[in-house]
Amino acid sequence: MNDEKRKSDAEERLRQYLSQHRLRCTPERLMILGKVVALKGSFSPAQLLDALVGDGFRLSHGTVYNNLKLFDAAGVVRRRRSEDGVEIYECASREDEHLTLVCSRCGRSREIRDAELFRLLKLRRYPSFVMAGFDLYIHGLCSRCRGGGRIRK
Ligand SMILES: [Zn+2]
Repeated sequence: MNDEKRKSDAEERLRQYLSQHRLRCTPERLMILGKVVALKGSFSPAQLLDALVGDGFRLSHGTVYNNLKLFDAAGVVRRRRSEDGVEIYECASREDEHLTLVCSRCGRSREIRDAELFRLLKLRRYPSFVMAGFDLYIHGLCSRCRGGGRIRK
């Protein structure tokens, strides 16, 4: 998916969510969403704010954070915790072929690609339901928590 497609796809999903919840689709929201798509990969709310301020926009941390929460609810971004425990977000593309491994003990997460599994998932059909995307989280123990103090490099 190219950048324009990713952006219009994300916008469409956000607009749908906003109208379903009778929320306004403001230019500010769309501008923040555009930046989220442009950033590619994962980012923290602070990094997003820095990027927006760098572009000359005057926004507060609260505005950025509230919009990220909204985008998360709309399924436009995904929220997770980075390996060092920071809350991070990323654009949830419909063609995202990553799944997230989450450690049940320490909460660290790691992304891995699994194109084969995703190919199967995209073929799934469910009655009275049109699939728009999916998030996969696999729960278990990371090597650090499983190792009982053993450090593996
Ligand atoms: Zn762990």
